[in-house]
Amino acid sequence: MQPTDKIYVAGHRGMVGSAIVRRLQQEGFNNIIGRTSSELDLRQQTAVDAFFAAERPDYVFLAAAKVGGIVANNTYRAEFLYDNLMIQSNIMQAAHLHGTTKLMFLGSSCIYPKLAPQPLKEEALLTGLLEPTNEPYAIAKIAGIKMADAYRAQYGSHFISVMPTNLYGPNDNYDLERSHVLPALIRKFHTAKVTNAPEVVVWGTGTPLREFLHADDMADACVFLMKTYDEPGFLNIGIGEDISIADLARLVQRVIGYEGRLVFDTSKPDGTPRKLMDVTRLSNRGWKARIGLEEGIRSVYEGVKDTWVV
Ligand code: GDP
Repeated sequence: MQPTDKIYVAGHRGMVGSAIVRRLQQEGFNNIIGRTSSELDLRQQTAVDAFFAAERPDYVFLAAAKVGGIVANNTYRAEFLYDNLMIQSNIMQAAHLHGTTKLMFLGSSCIYPKLAPQPLKEEALLTGLLEPTNEPYAIAKIAGIKMADAYRAQYGSHFISVMPTNLYGPNDNYDLERSHVLPALIRKFHTAKVTNAPEVVVWGTGTPLREFLHADDMADACVFLMKTYDEPGFLNIGIGEDISIADLARLVQRVIGYEGRLVFDTSKPDGTPRKLMDVTRLSNRGWKARIGLEEGIRSVYEGVKDTWVV
């Protein structure tokens, strides 16, 4: 990649896309383009094709997706499948037709079977049944990996895929019905602290285990792999360590300084029991996450807390 190459970051306003833009800018790339969803609806094939025909980006980070937490995934099942299939198919086909040099597709750790051996190795893909709550999203992401591989096999496209673990960072979604667990907990504990509420409700039993990677680390890995990795299949991106939801809640509670009780609402789903990435392949390439979980939560909280009116 050269500093003047045209780089399209699809989803540049989202948490991951905006982190990729910041990382590229730090590295001196100065020809980065993006479109908001109102400027370009990525579900519309004709519009996406026209955009690629006009802009002809050299590199594409496919970080645009419909995303959400466990309840959103389970509720808007049709939208999670349709929107994601359309977005990724339109972009890959347009990149193929309009001379893109290289494209990176971003997926998620939910592509793995619910009961796959932990930590999750890349080979576990399609070896078992998926977790039902986010099956539509997972099916779309699996289709994306296979599509990138198919274009590579049939047309020789340099399409690569990466599967991050659960991410958090600036520009996350804090809507309590739709967000993932970490932003939800940050918001809930902050609100409880400010309003002196006696308790905070944590969904599920608190026993599921999850791994969390800061979006800035994710962006660093993406730019590193765009420059150095060009193979079929995909690579996991994570830190290789997990934490129970109950311990995560206690950690957020401590960082925010809230002194009330935790209550577990077991009428809400737990989802998959554990989702820990095996990051051996990535570490063998010389990449490692730098931002610790407590440090990351602290900096995200500092960045967002004054934007909320409780
Ligand atoms: P998942 O990783 O796809 O299961 O998605 P989430 O990040 O939404 O949820 C992870 C785990 O955290 C699940 O076991 C949830 O039940 C649990 N959890 C606890 N409190 C919350 C909350 O307030 N919001 C969300 N989204 N999940 C929560």
